[in-house]
Amino acid sequence: MDNEFLKVFEVLINLDIKTMIGVLMWGNLALAFLILRYHVYHELNNEKILIRRFGIAKILQAIAWFFLFLRGDISDIFSVYFGNILLFISFYLDSLVILKMNKNTKMIWFRLQSFLLALSIISFLIVEILLGTGNVRIAIASLSVFCIFVIPNLLTVIDNQSSRFQKFIGLTSLVFLLLLLLRAFDSLFKEDVSLFTNNILQSGTFILLILLMFVNGIGFLLIMYERSYEMLRRSSNLDPLTQINNRRYFMSKAEAYYQRASGEQKSLSFLFIDIDFFEKVNDNYGHLFGDEVLKTIAKVLSENVRPLDLCCRFGGEEFLILAHETNTEQAVIIGNRIREIIQNLVFEENHEFKCTVSVGIYSGIPNDKQNIQHFIDNADQALYKAKESGRNCVVSFVDNGLFEPQNVESPMNDF
Ligand code: GH3
Ligand code: MG
Ligand code: MG
Repeated sequence: MDNEFLKVFEVLINLDIKTMIGVLMWGNLALAFLILRYHVYHELNNEKILIRRFGIAKILQAIAWFFLFLRGDISDIFSVYFGNILLFISFYLDSLVILKMNKNTKMIWFRLQSFLLALSIISFLIVEILLGTGNVRIAIASLSVFCIFVIPNLLTVIDNQSSRFQKFIGLTSLVFLLLLLLRAFDSLFKEDVSLFTNNILQSGTFILLILLMFVNGIGFLLIMYERSYEMLRRSSNLDPLTQINNRRYFMSKAEAYYQRASGEQKSLSFLFIDIDFFEKVNDNYGHLFGDEVLKTIAKVLSENVRPLDLCCRFGGEEFLILAHETNTEQAVIIGNRIREIIQNLVFEENHEFKCTVSVGIYSGIPNDKQNIQHFIDNADQALYKAKESGRNCVVSFVDNGLFEPQNVESPMNDF
């Protein structure tokens, strides 16, 4: 049974090397065509450079494999020297693309790649001129490809910001690179090995090269799509002016918070915040300054809620905060602290300008008769009362219908 299995495995692996080099040549050409076409459609300029570079790397790879394919039929100058050096350069370009796709790659890694490319070319030339034997050439070429690719892929795998898919591509590449290293050492001790020699390790390596060509090429395009989608998803949750969450995102998240508070019977608070006399700000200082005020206040709010609380621009000059596991007293402290910070803000564009907000609060433990809208409406009513009471104040709605003005000085604490 084991023997049968091994036999089948050998038949599957034992493919003709020259044909596989042909597949690498045509495959890279097809990928280059696909990638450069994608480049035309892609809209983000900073990514276009990346896509173009990857496309060029694929064209160079196709040309390099073309020269290797013609080994024996054309002069060795082209097939050995030109073909291999071109292959190094194209892999080097590939490696730069992988580095660039990681978010915070330091400059030193890019420099190291250039150094490794130079080292590969020089050592290849020296060994070729001094020895000129097929097996050593294969060893040096394989070792060079290993060195050029190993660091960028390792960095991708360990980078926290890489997507899972990126890590998968990185890991697949690392497995291939280890096998390539095996090939390098194996051919070093087998003097009869040359480019077209058929043995298990040779064919295995070329099969992996073909797999990697597809995994890398298609993977690259999918990662690009994944990034565009992620950007779109993130921007669809944000308010374009203030860059804090928008109402749609807030409501989708708030429902889950509400259900959890209901299940665990814990209090949660809604704080409605509205800028006082904002119409006058626009009238007196212009809309652009009004926009700056909105941005500054949004920043104050997002910096003054706990990481797990929610905060959004609800609309116009109104903001809404959801504070989890928070009762009225605690919410009033949050509201007053925010109110005081805003009252004391100094704006760069106009040092004399002062701005205040009114805050309406509703807190409670959700019960069966209520829903999230009930909480938001009550906070809105409290805000209305705060406006009525003269603005620049905090008012909370209490369940028996009373409104309690709560302009207490806020002590600094965890809330
Ligand atoms: P109150 O104290 O009663 O809240 O008075 P107010 O003037 O703030 O209230 P009102 O709701 O009448 O006015 C809100 C103003 O907010 C009207 C609108 O021009 C302004 N506004 C809404 N969205 C934006 C925005 O994106 N940028 C700017 N600059 N102004 C905005
Ligand atoms: Mg207002
Ligand atoms: Mg308003």
